[in-house]
Amino acid sequence: MQQLPADLETFKRWTIGKIRVTRVLELPPTAFDPAIFIQATRREILDHGDWLCPSFATDDGDIILHFQAFIIEAGGKRIMVDPCIGNDKPRGHPLLDMLDNPFLERLERAGFPRESIDVVLCTHLHVDHCGWNTMLVDGRWVPTFPNARYLFARREIACAEIDSDGDAAAIYQDSVQPIMDAGLAELVDPGHVIVEGVRLEATPGHTPGHCSIVISSGGHEAIITGDVIHHPVQAALPHVSSNFCQDEAVAIATRRSVLAHAADHDVMLLVAHFAGSSGVYVRTDGDAWTVEET
Ligand SMILES: [Zn+2]
Repeated sequence: MQQLPADLETFKRWTIGKIRVTRVLELPPTAFDPAIFIQATRREILDHGDWLCPSFATDDGDIILHFQAFIIEAGGKRIMVDPCIGNDKPRGHPLLDMLDNPFLERLERAGFPRESIDVVLCTHLHVDHCGWNTMLVDGRWVPTFPNARYLFARREIACAEIDSDGDAAAIYQDSVQPIMDAGLAELVDPGHVIVEGVRLEATPGHTPGHCSIVISSGGHEAIITGDVIHHPVQAALPHVSSNFCQDEAVAIATRRSVLAHAADHDVMLLVAHFAGSSGVYVRTDGDAWTVEET
């Protein structure tokens, strides 16, 4: 595992019709042995090195991943999607454990003071997608975005493993329960429209209640895909799941369906863990796909 030098203060933005999306990184791009995250080897990564290197993979076959949030501006609202890992949280993996990271300051420099966020959305409740839901103040977890409604997929909450002895219980206790206790949570179902042009769609498999966010405006479409896909090599090898997918068969079917839809309809995918520009178009390549950075 190696963090790579990068400029975290230049904020990549995309425009989809009248809707704007900005990404803000929490950590520098990080290179990993692929086996830590996905069911692929360095050899398989290097087989696709001609289009994966240098943005998505190193010359040694390590995969490069981002940890980042996307902020949607639509209909006069600011929607924070997947607020990363968070600070001060005890976690099992050393990369994620007890971070002390100026993410909120960076978010403000990108133009989004935390008080200005209207809606918070988590594609799912894994450690790296809901951490900044809360922050530690005087020994208590409080909502980081005090003026926001926090939308949770009803099924994801129902399936949360709150009695497990791993990170899942801790994540619920420090990143979800305080939002419920503060009365800021709202349970929603797939199809829910957040503002005109921004809606939730079910993309199960990685977790049972996993949702993606479909953005459509002015005849253009983009999808924030959470963890439907972790690394671009999975476009070429869609049967490759992450090590964290709860139902692999469903995850593979969802991944194939999202990739096919994106390729057939020229839809941009904005992907939580993709390095490089993180926004890609999907191109058909035989019975699989490749990606092209925006
Ligand atoms: Zn993730």
